[in-house]
Amino acid sequence: MNSSEVHADAEALYEDAPVAYVSTQVDGTVIRANRTLERWTGFERTELIGAKRLQDLLAPGARIYYETHCAPLLQMQGSVREIAMELVLADGGRLPVLMSATLVADPDGKPVAVRTTFVDASERRRYERELLRARQDAEARARSAVALGHVHDGVVLVDDAGRIELLNPAAGRIFGLAAAEALGRPAAEAIAGWPAIAAVPLASPSEGGTVRVVPVERDGDEQWLAVAAADAGDGVVYTVRDVTDERRLEQLRADIVATVSHELRTPLTGVYGAATTLLGRDDDLPKEARRGLLEVLVEQARRLAGIVDQILLASRLDGAGVDAQLEVVDAADVLRGLGAGSHRVVVDEDGGVRIRADVDRLRQVVDNLVDNALKYSSGPVRVATEARELSGRIVVSDEGPGIPAAERERIFEKFYRLDPDQRSGVSGTGLGLYIARELVDRMGGRIGLLDSAGGAAFYVDIPAA
Ligand code: ADP
Repeated sequence: MNSSEVHADAEALYEDAPVAYVSTQVDGTVIRANRTLERWTGFERTELIGAKRLQDLLAPGARIYYETHCAPLLQMQGSVREIAMELVLADGGRLPVLMSATLVADPDGKPVAVRTTFVDASERRRYERELLRARQDAEARARSAVALGHVHDGVVLVDDAGRIELLNPAAGRIFGLAAAEALGRPAAEAIAGWPAIAAVPLASPSEGGTVRVVPVERDGDEQWLAVAAADAGDGVVYTVRDVTDERRLEQLRADIVATVSHELRTPLTGVYGAATTLLGRDDDLPKEARRGLLEVLVEQARRLAGIVDQILLASRLDGAGVDAQLEVVDAADVLRGLGAGSHRVVVDEDGGVRIRADVDRLRQVVDNLVDNALKYSSGPVRVATEARELSGRIVVSDEGPGIPAAERERIFEKFYRLDPDQRSGVSGTGLGLYIARELVDRMGGRIGLLDSAGGAAFYVDIPAA
């Protein structure tokens, strides 16, 4: 290559380099620019040279950055490198670029010009944006996983083949299995009662879901689940909530209404009958008959008041409204005069068992146990005290039918009765033992059943004084 060829080659390289070149005066006025800049920006060189400043080629944000940051830096250190900028194009578009610039000085060191290069950064910007989007996606997924881990409702994703793809901790708790052992397994095999859950119709995306409450048998217990199902594209997502407790509560409420109305009706019928008879035949009734009817009135009114008291006390015990007033007493003092109305009650009044108790409340508990024993058996009822290591024990035992081992916890539940239909003819609210247990709890004691050969034997342990 001769020197003119070399010159032409260098010129071609300058003009069509993959980099845009601009030379400016120190104030930014364009002196020279290559063809690449023309191509990229769409501005003719005649529109640039002497007519525009470099700053005019920059987007507003980039311009401010240039003035406040790049220009001072250039003055101070003579060059800046690879600063992300945006060029404004003739058609109003933008081109992301990386800008580098060098200050040109005269032999005295006085700055006379600036040489600036721009490298097209659109590829790189696109790549950075994709990277950012991928990171945001990954973060969003991670956040959804965290959220799913914390929601109260169970969420299960089942693929088209019926296999569990996802199971959050709440679903694990509801179904009694860990995500690790469930993933990948057929839902029908891993989850008890799955057919009932899978039968819930899919929600349509526009109308939202219908929630179905389905009963599921698990480990011999009945569990009620509120289930919503939605199409998830290549599978179905089920949202599941355990509503067994709500269901029990509803049942309980229905029981309360049934029991209370039934319990109140019998004495009310008695009161009504006695009162109407008295009213209608007052004059021609013999004195004893009148007295008998009045006694019925008093007895039935007393029974009614008792039932209402029991219901009120039970509801106060549900809140925190009842405190025990503890004092040191001899257990025998609590038993004094017990069962005065019945020759069947045999009380062992030996003293010497000192306890810390609320006498009135404890008396109420033992009264209730004795009443039950009289109600449910026909033989003798024994009440005895016993000193134990840390407590004093009162035992109320009878020779009646006793209580089957499987029912010995449940009889302390509210409204629970072994004979709810009162086939034996013995009525009751099913609140007595619930109240007894609550009261004993408040004294720091325990109430339960002893394993006895025949009949029922209830014990009440109260902390020793
Ligand atoms: P109730 O008002 O029905 O007597 P309780 O709460 O006092 O309610 O007792 C609950 C149930 O426990 C009774 O309905 C009865 O079935 C059973 N029960 C209680 N005490 C005895 C007993 N001494 N012998 C047999 N069954 C009993």
